[in-house]
Amino acid sequence: ESFDDMGLQENLLRGIYAYGFEKPSAIQQRGIVPFCKGLDVIQQAQSGTGKTATFCSGILQQLDYGLVECQSLVLAPTRELAQQIEKVMRALGDYLGVKVHACVGGTSVREDQRILASGVHVVVGTPGRVFDMLRRQSLRPDHIKMFVLDEADEMLSRGFKDQIYDIFQLLPPKIQVGVFSATMPPEALEITRKFMNKPVRILV
Ligand code: AMP
Repeated sequence: ESFDDMGLQENLLRGIYAYGFEKPSAIQQRGIVPFCKGLDVIQQAQSGTGKTATFCSGILQQLDYGLVECQSLVLAPTRELAQQIEKVMRALGDYLGVKVHACVGGTSVREDQRILASGVHVVVGTPGRVFDMLRRQSLRPDHIKMFVLDEADEMLSRGFKDQIYDIFQLLPPKIQVGVFSATMPPEALEITRKFMNKPVRILV
């Protein structure tokens, strides 16, 4: 299996190879194609398996680059992880002209608002700051069509459950949902039952 056989756009493939990836990891082999088809996917995988590039590729493949509105939201448990995902998304999407912004606590709210107002395709962030941006209407959810929870178990154990639910309530109905988690505690299963539609399950 190679990245070439996944039906990805030429400019996404260029980004993947330029980043230095040669062959897809196991999770990428199984997860990228269903994600690109718009299916809801639950991927139970540890970090280190290549999960970041799995959902970044799936998102980058499906964005409408002519529309500079937030079309995808990725939530992560920590500022560092959100910023790391932002970097990978930007690098893989370099030849596509993707605009990504990380919305995390501990940074200037004004600066977040300025960047969001200037137009982005993807927002990656921690639940607190993302909810704050939605509540202030600095982040408009109308065009969001893909929602990813990365390290869902970790977000839940850090007490972000209510904020995740609050965010879900503000997003358009029937969006694609991807859940990545090393373990599947009851609260994570509850999220998959409540917010996902016939999810594909991938265990790596
Ligand atoms: P992740 O599980 O997304 O945190 O990725 C773990 C590490 O594996 C990161 O350093 C990635 O850059 C690297 N990685 C992910 N996918 C590939 C790949 N297909 N080929 C080589 N390295 C990869």
